[in-house]
Amino acid sequence: SDSTNLLSNVKFEVEEWAKAQMKEIERLKELERYRKDFVGNVSHELKTPIFNIQGYILTLLEGGLDDPKINMLYLKRTEKSIDRMISIVEDLESITKLESGELKLNMVKFDIVKTVKDVFEIEQWQAEERNISLKIVNPPPKPVFVKGDRNRIMEVLINLIINGIKYGKKQGYVHVSFHDLEDSIMVEVTDNGIGIEKKHLPRIFERFYRVDKSRSREQGGTGLGLSIVKHIIEAHNQSINVRSVIDQGTTFNFTIEKAK
Ligand code: ADP
Repeated sequence: SDSTNLLSNVKFEVEEWAKAQMKEIERLKELERYRKDFVGNVSHELKTPIFNIQGYILTLLEGGLDDPKINMLYLKRTEKSIDRMISIVEDLESITKLESGELKLNMVKFDIVKTVKDVFEIEQWQAEERNISLKIVNPPPKPVFVKGDRNRIMEVLINLIINGIKYGKKQGYVHVSFHDLEDSIMVEVTDNGIGIEKKHLPRIFERFYRVDKSRSREQGGTGLGLSIVKHIIEAHNQSINVRSVIDQGTTFNFTIEKAK
């Protein structure tokens, strides 16, 4: 009859409404978990350099100041710890802006080959320190113009190339190559370093995810680099991928729109 029909319709709508509410509650819980994780991770990361600095200062106060050698050593260590805090805070600022969508891309036409050369110049000393060579494979004879936020794409390249250096082996290399796709250019960054085990690959773009925490920290890593990289590429509506063989090396590739 009509009344039973009406009743079942109402029942259906109430159930749908309840389901939507449950979903919303789940979403809020997830957000809260994420927020807690984030704050927990940040304070953990910052605590290490803070406690280190406290230790260095105590050593100086308790007599170290009188010995010029110890003096210098501990001041240098303090400076290093402060550098580390600065890079953590800078990464945090980037990630917060990127995640809240606050970041506006400043789209310009630029030569991606020249940009890689500029990044190589910036990274040269770090590469030399570890005996790692930086090279563009099959360098295109002419400029390759793309469209994007040049500073942000530089940040992407810096992160990928520094990772290649940090997780490289002595006497290793970081190679960059360009591949012409129809509407975009694919940039590949390859190293012959320690590689990443298959089981970790799906997670390395997550914030704070690190395969080997102590090695990453020793190299000044925050575990935020790749998540920043991914955000930047996605903000450009492009994609980034990784493949890796443990003990042999890793290749990251991302695309960027060709300029007309
Ligand atoms: P981090 O600051 O620790 O380098 P990233 O977000 O840049 O953080 O990278 C996340 C993790 O992925 C690193 O801790 C490292 O374990 C792994 N990783 C990234 N790039 C490479 C690479 N080129 N070779 C080997 N491992 C890498």
